[in-house]
Amino acid sequence: MICLGIESTAHTFGIGIITEEGNVLANEKDTYTTKEGGIVPIKAVEHHMNCYEKVIKKSLEKAGLTIKEIDIIAFSQSPGLGHTLRIGAMAARSLAAHYSKPLIGVNHCIAHLEIGNMTTECRNPVLLYASGANTQIIAYEAGRYRIFGETLDIGIGNFLDSFARELGLGFPGGPKIYELANKGKNYIKLPYTVKGMDVSFGGILTNLKQKLKSGQYSEEDLCFSVQETVFAMLLEVAERAMAHCDKKELLLGGGVACNKRLQQMAKEMCSQREAECFIPKNEFLVDNGAMIAWLGIIEHKAGNRTKIEESIIKPYERTDEVEVNWR
Ligand code: AMP
Ligand code: MG
Repeated sequence: MICLGIESTAHTFGIGIITEEGNVLANEKDTYTTKEGGIVPIKAVEHHMNCYEKVIKKSLEKAGLTIKEIDIIAFSQSPGLGHTLRIGAMAARSLAAHYSKPLIGVNHCIAHLEIGNMTTECRNPVLLYASGANTQIIAYEAGRYRIFGETLDIGIGNFLDSFARELGLGFPGGPKIYELANKGKNYIKLPYTVKGMDVSFGGILTNLKQKLKSGQYSEEDLCFSVQETVFAMLLEVAERAMAHCDKKELLLGGGVACNKRLQQMAKEMCSQREAECFIPKNEFLVDNGAMIAWLGIIEHKAGNRTKIEESIIKPYERTDEVEVNWR
């Protein structure tokens, strides 16, 4: 069985091709970026429209396959930007209908978790999913991937990107903040917002804007302090979820998890509680087609199929709405 997976929840149009044994034959993508400012959904749509054919072709070439040799078409059906989800769904429906292949719409957040399970040695982790639009602490309990904690406002990646925009840096801002943070030395106190098992970033962003305007602090010190503060918040709730669920594994997922400082703090927290920390390769942390293809394989084996007439996108679906019938 070979599955072609299509990712288009936001800035990335990705195509992954994977075998049922988990061999990634191709994982191609094209990502919408800007020099200044954030994602403009309609521009991201233009980007995806302009590149989708090229990315599909490139991935088939890389895999050394023709589309006829693909057995299953999977796509990210939820959650994400409606504008961009539609492009991937349209491509998936067309391929599935034209070449008579089974179609499987999958949940993007769960795909992050399953590709992590497959490419690392972890089995039953708490997932710290830190991406652009999403920030969730997820673990499997009683038939579903449950959300134990999450952001109450914006995702951590969007938060970092917004702060980067204030600094006049382009999108994505996370890596640029990381570079500046490495040059910072002094910790500047920022609001620390953990509410029960949830986090929030809006107030910190306002506070940062005020500090920036005051001209009293260096950009490097602010970036350093931002990372120390918000990563500590994430790991506090992740650790509490691990204790609550009695799980000994932490898995990282999402583009922000590429951050080396977050990775280091996650490893330290795990070693202190004699747990293991699993970090997939960057290629599988950021949004990618391979994870969509892999969840396609898993769900296909479980007998799940998406009829064309049921393949409508679900921009707001939550992780725990999906019934997990494959574990
Ligand atoms: P995703 O939506 O999972 O593809 O993640 C995209 C987000 O990851 C964007 O908000 C980026 O700013 C952020 N990001 C990517 N690399 C890094 C990094 N090294 N440190 C922090 N954030 C990052
Ligand atoms: Mg993602």
